[in-house]
Amino acid sequence: MPGARIDLLGQTALVTGASRGIGRAIAKALATCGADVIGVGTAITGQADDLQHEFEGLAGSFRPLDCDLSDRAAIDRMIVHLDQAGHKIDILVNNAGIIRRAPAAQHPIEDWDAVMAVNLDAVFLLSRELGRRMVERGHGKIINLASVLSYQGGILVPGYAAAKGAVAQLTKSLANEWAAQGVNVNAVAPGYVATDNTAALQADPEREAALMARIPAGCWGQPNDIAWPVAFLASDLAKFIHGETLAVDGGWLAR
Ligand code: NAP
Repeated sequence: MPGARIDLLGQTALVTGASRGIGRAIAKALATCGADVIGVGTAITGQADDLQHEFEGLAGSFRPLDCDLSDRAAIDRMIVHLDQAGHKIDILVNNAGIIRRAPAAQHPIEDWDAVMAVNLDAVFLLSRELGRRMVERGHGKIINLASVLSYQGGILVPGYAAAKGAVAQLTKSLANEWAAQGVNVNAVAPGYVATDNTAALQADPEREAALMARIPAGCWGQPNDIAWPVAFLASDLAKFIHGETLAVDGGWLAR
């Protein structure tokens, strides 16, 4: 069937948190489908040589861009830079995220603030700025990284769960405004994926065994398991999907 593949040729994508983990896999999946990817990290330009090697030969391209997304002024500067360099972002993937684990009764407000800044405030600011430009051009895709903790409370991560719950709601809110204007806003909610984000869980044999026993698929997800559903949502194959948070969790939420 013509067009029944993920084709992102000629599209420019901005992927936050592209230095490692799920974001790096997303950047690679989008570039494999032909997108020219701008990958954001706090110091990702330091990996420029490795990245150039990794993305060589793909249908699209990769360009690293440094920005500390916990700093609102830095986000403003990045937007100005993107405009001045003439980058029109067709696909925004709000992937960067951090997690801070501590019991609620002792949870430092600094940890709460840090998580909210990266996992929620930056998602809103980038969506507002780049989403407005997409609406003006009449097309665009925004994909946010939510979590199974958008639905569940988790353990020892009150700020993270609160922020991820809000990301799922923000996704719906933006979709309600922009769906009729050619912009798809959706989210992917990963389950437990083997990255730095879950290193503490992977290193705790008791927690890990309990998690694996509860996941119907019986294993950790891998970054690529999340990357391809994101690439699908970034394509016109998904053009009638709006405001959805798609769980990609090995069946975790079904249990
Ligand atoms: P990860 O391996 O810890 O990578 C986090 C990424 O976010 C890195 O590229 C990091 O860049 C970037 N980042 C963090 N703080 C930043 C800041 N202030 N400014 C710019 N970039 C920043 O995480 P992951 O597991 O791939 O997670 C990716 C997303 O999926 C997150 O939103 C996470 O909450 C979500 N998620 C993950 C899981 C899981 O099981 N792994 C489950 C559900 C949801 P630097 O290298 O520059 O620090």
